[in-house]
Amino acid sequence: MVDEIAKAQTAIPEEVTLFDKIVAKKIPANIIYEDDLALAFRDINPVTPTHFLVIPKDRKGLSQLSKATPEHAQLLGHLLITAAKVAAQEGLDNGFRTVINDGKDAGQTVYHLHIHVIGGKQLSWPPG
Ligand code: 5GP
Repeated sequence: MVDEIAKAQTAIPEEVTLFDKIVAKKIPANIIYEDDLALAFRDINPVTPTHFLVIPKDRKGLSQLSKATPEHAQLLGHLLITAAKVAAQEGLDNGFRTVINDGKDAGQTVYHLHIHVIGGKQLSWPPG
């Protein structure tokens, strides 16, 4: 976790992101859902018993949520609906949390918009 925060201090937007490479199947990932617009795969470093990421396949300039414009509204809605659908597929019937880290202070390390979905245990609040 500390490593992730350190990484976030130096992470920068890239032309081709790590997640673009996962979409292109150039980097392997444990993919649990895919449709025309979205991909969901398990986080390589899970923070809860269930932890997956939902990403747009084509991020359309959405390196992070703060870059969103009205043109992204439909895509963002689709990603959220996908997050809930895959959470149900994963059996997270008692609840789950969605997180979007935006920028250094939030600990964002990959500049390709992604929704974390975490669950499978009782989560605490507030986050650090
Ligand atoms: P962020 O810190 O940007 O909000 O989230 C990036 C997430 O991507 C982290 O939770 C990290 O564990 C995950 N991650 C980084 N590299 C890989 C990878 O190669 N494969 C997968 N499946 N997840 C990754």
